Amino acid sequence: IEYSTSKAGMDLRLRGVTFRYQSSAADVTLKNISLMIPSNSFVLLVGENGSGKTTLLKLLARLHDPTSGEIFVNDTPLAAYNPVSLRKHTTFLMQSEEIFPMSLEENLLMATPDQIWSKEEAQERMDEAIRIGGARQLIDRVGYDAILNPPTILAQSLQGCGNGIIGDAAIRELERHTMQKSAAISNGEKQRFIIARSFMRLLNSNTRLLIVDEPTSCLDLVAERDMFEQFYRRRKGKTTIFVTHRFASLARKADMIVCMKNGEIVETGRHEELVSLAGEYARLYEVQQGIPR
Ligand code: ADP
Repeated sequence: IEYSTSKAGMDLRLRGVTFRYQSSAADVTLKNISLMIPSNSFVLLVGENGSGKTTLLKLLARLHDPTSGEIFVNDTPLAAYNPVSLRKHTTFLMQSEEIFPMSLEENLLMATPDQIWSKEEAQERMDEAIRIGGARQLIDRVGYDAILNPPTILAQSLQGCGNGIIGDAAIRELERHTMQKSAAISNGEKQRFIIARSFMRLLNSNTRLLIVDEPTSCLDLVAERDMFEQFYRRRKGKTTIFVTHRFASLARKADMIVCMKNGEIVETGRHEELVSLAGEYARLYEVQQGIPR
């Protein structure tokens, strides 16, 4: 079936969801996850490295299917939807995203494939996303037509693909083709651009589900807090699930905090409730505040 946008946000319900990576000899990665996220919520998902947060997001984004159990979207099984119609109304900002080796303008316009704009309108939309994403300085320096450091991108994508000889030859070849306009950028600039690209989509598509996984690891604390605020401000009309290690500035704002440990949900509730439980969440929160126990 087609996903309908008659409802603001998106109700998500997981019932007894278990997931095991086929490649993994280990035990299941997600164990018996049951969770209800009502429409319009801003949810903070926390837990130590390896607790299963990214895996859970990937199941919601339907990049993997549960090994057992069920996921419902607005009371209909996730698997019953036409995946394209769901994806149209979803914005993901995943951890491992890259800037594609094409111009920055093309990177931004790719985020909104359904939109047909005049040149002026496209420019306005790009400028807005770049401003909100905090990538203005980068664009002022290199321009929308820059292809960012393509040899580096290629080298990264060739990492682990056999010996360095293939990589070196490919990089020399690519360099020959991209002499005209290529620029190097820092990890922080790269991350800001990737965030701006997700805002391009968020602001110009009918997003009902926003999934954001550790978007700011290369930003300083002030830039990170400002960035969180930009996402938080736009939470209306959509269901947002946000993963970050440094969650102090969002903790009190979140409608719901979901805390995972070893593939299980161990606590859910609001910040104050979870702090008073003095359990896993309280421990993570204290560590980040630098308060010794
Ligand atoms: P988190 O996001 O909380 O750090 P992840 O969901 O990334 O946790 O990982 C949960 C567990 O699943 C970890 O033990 C990790 O090693 C394992 N895992 C993650 N991705 C894969 C994969 N593609 N294949 C096998 N195991 C994986």
